[in-house]
Amino acid sequence: MQVLKFGGTSVANAENMNKVSSIVQQALVRMPQSKTIVVVSALGGVTDVLLQSGGLAAAGDESYKELLQKVEQRHLEAVKALIPVTQQSSVLSWVKQRCNEIEDICNGVFLLGELSARTKDRIVSFGELLSSKIIAARLNALGIENIWVDSRELIRTDSHYGSASVDFSLTNSLCNDFFSAAAAKLFIVPGFVAADDKGNTTTLGRGGSDYTAAIIAGAVSAQSLEIWTDVSGMMTADPRLVPNARILPHISYQEAMELSHFGAKVIYPPTIQPVMSKNIPVWIKNTFAPEDHGTLIENDVHKNGNNIRGISSISKIALLSLEGSGMVGIPGFSRRLFESLANDFINVILITQGSSEHSICVGIDEALAEKAKLAVDKTFAHEIETGRVEPLRIEKGLAIVALVGDNMKSHPGISGKMFGAIGRNGVNVRAIAQGSSERNISAVIAATDVKKAINVLHEDFFETTYKQINLFVAGTGNVGGKLLAQLKQQQQYLQQNMRLQVRIVGMANSKKMVFSDEGIDLDNWRDHLQKGETMDLGNFVETIRSKNLRNSVFVDVTANELVAQVYDQLLAKSISVVACNKVACSSAFAYYKKLKDLAREYNAFFLFETNVGAGLPVIGTLNDLMRSGDVVTRIEAVLSGTLNFVFNNYDGTRSFAQVVKQAQDEGYTEPDPRLDLSGTDVMRKIMILAREAGERLDMEDITNNTFMPASCMVGSVDDFYKEMEKQEKHFKEIYQKAAESGKKLKFVAKFEGGKAAVGLQHVDSQSDFYHLYGKDNVVLFYTNRYPDQPLVVKGAGAGAEVTASGVFADIIRAAH
Ligand code: ADP
Ligand code: ASP
Ligand code: MG
Repeated sequence: MQVLKFGGTSVANAENMNKVSSIVQQALVRMPQSKTIVVVSALGGVTDVLLQSGGLAAAGDESYKELLQKVEQRHLEAVKALIPVTQQSSVLSWVKQRCNEIEDICNGVFLLGELSARTKDRIVSFGELLSSKIIAARLNALGIENIWVDSRELIRTDSHYGSASVDFSLTNSLCNDFFSAAAAKLFIVPGFVAADDKGNTTTLGRGGSDYTAAIIAGAVSAQSLEIWTDVSGMMTADPRLVPNARILPHISYQEAMELSHFGAKVIYPPTIQPVMSKNIPVWIKNTFAPEDHGTLIENDVHKNGNNIRGISSISKIALLSLEGSGMVGIPGFSRRLFESLANDFINVILITQGSSEHSICVGIDEALAEKAKLAVDKTFAHEIETGRVEPLRIEKGLAIVALVGDNMKSHPGISGKMFGAIGRNGVNVRAIAQGSSERNISAVIAATDVKKAINVLHEDFFETTYKQINLFVAGTGNVGGKLLAQLKQQQQYLQQNMRLQVRIVGMANSKKMVFSDEGIDLDNWRDHLQKGETMDLGNFVETIRSKNLRNSVFVDVTANELVAQVYDQLLAKSISVVACNKVACSSAFAYYKKLKDLAREYNAFFLFETNVGAGLPVIGTLNDLMRSGDVVTRIEAVLSGTLNFVFNNYDGTRSFAQVVKQAQDEGYTEPDPRLDLSGTDVMRKIMILAREAGERLDMEDITNNTFMPASCMVGSVDDFYKEMEKQEKHFKEIYQKAAESGKKLKFVAKFEGGKAAVGLQHVDSQSDFYHLYGKDNVVLFYTNRYPDQPLVVKGAGAGAEVTASGVFADIIRAAH
């Protein structure tokens, strides 16, 4: 014998039911000598609607009638589409009669204002009764003879309505007697419904049609059980949460059980038990892609090298904690706890107990939390009164994520990898459990973190393809524009060669902001941004935080003070920050320190290589020196590409103002060039280097020997240029003084002995600073390891292209 089960989507409408008919036909051809039993779910969504109707009726809301009308309509339409007109009448009248019965029952519920669990089961059972009858009629109409069997004649349960327990010995003999005696080859059976010993209708729990099929398959020792659904097999994770989930061609019964227990809805958890004990192979197949291989669940599974088979999750979990000093070393507490939960039919999904025995923690369905508290507090009333145990603590809004795999045992490092991966993404773990079979590790986390956690774990354990990096870019000016162009150009390379899929999920400039979970198309990001909503920084940050995407990186390519003030909110959510904006690192030491600490605490990156020397590896080099134990004794540097450009190009032939203007036009200056000319920008840079070298330095601690007349520094940028023209004589004098003695002018920053200073110097040809051209920067690190000949970093230290590439490099660093 063979058993096939078709789920709700497989029979959702006439078109799908046609597919079911042809799969059944092929199954009959495959095993012509055997009997075939087909178990059918209710039409997709009908179970929910029936339950809702009962609820509305009980609440005195007459709209249940409309819902029932729609249910009737759906079934009648299916009949009309599937059965030839000449044969329709008997099925139509059967369907109408059943629908009238449902309405009668609901009318009764409405009048009484009460819906018992038993009546609920009566109402909901009609979903499967109707669907299976229609399939049976359809097959008959196609000339495929079959017998419709009411599963209430086959499956006997206790009277725990809503989720009844099966009496296997009675059920097995009922099934065996019936199927061996019946002459037909094909049987159509409604799933989900059963009956107790008084003949009352019961149901097997939501998703229970899978179970019906497995119970029958086990009872008749079927050769195989096929579960036909809307996915091509059991997958490494729920495809609705993890788009990259992939099909598992083979898994063991135990793995299937664990995965379904921890939320893989594709099979109802108790389904495996009856077939496993008989070693019956189970296939999960796709009604909509019958040629796909599907998943084979059986005993012997070839190891595929991956120790983890799948990841699943259950949401709506509550954690119950029973705690108290009176529990330590005294046997019986856990027994009493579990007994009181079991007596109230509260299913325990996860248990953890520390070796101190001071507390026991259990995970249960959130909807049962209050009931559990009443039961447990009653059981321990005496202990609570005497202070030996605290009243039961309930925490809601949680979820369980579980890694499952037979091969996990004796493979160290899996839990380390698991918690490392989710920890890096700021997911807080509330409780952990690992079965002694070592077939699963489960963690209780906030329900809002599930999607992120599952995807991160999937990436870490399964994806040989790529890791997804989610960027939020603030600023689309000079540097931002270049960065986006570079990202666009490198997207494919990063995916192919570094397994990184970098997506821009959010983008903003001072006017607009836009988000796209699929990633903004970089070919026309300007259009997307233009069509976006009005920029609101608070809103932008809140959206990034609430999206809660894995591997999120905030990229600040603005020079904006307000933007720099939001880094702390992002880092505290484990969102990495990459900034070319210098404001944060050169603000008060306390804020700089806070950001560094937050990054450490929340496992995020705070990277700002481009704060000094644009794309040159200055901060990275300094960090490497420090981390390897070197001590910086002195830093000397030319850190202003702008000032270097200006003094390299100024010889009195064109006015100083004109040369400054050229630097600005070519993109080497800060948006406000006075920041460069005043030396303030260089002060910020040497301060950042000093801070990175371990010194607690603020701007007030730095001496600035400025060469700019104070009169140039007031008013607007326009005024600044005008005033510089007026002061041309002053600049010419500075130039000539140096030129006369064969020296060049360099604006030099110096840090030594805890003190920093910046100012214009005359340098001769012996100096490391003499041969600096264009917008070059140079940094000389004197350290314990480089006491006489410094470690030198030199090259172009300004410009949008190199700055963008430095930001890009930081993004890649954060991605790893
Ligand atoms: P049916 O109505 O056929 O019984 P279900 O909706 O009960 O179908 O189960 C199939 C669904 O289970 C799939 O559409 C999928 O979204 C979900 N699912 C959750 N976890 C997994 C998993 N690990 N593998 C496959 N499907 C899963
Ligand atoms: N129709 C029932 C439900 O929706 C049983 C099933 O589909 O398996 O829960
Ligand atoms: Mg199902």
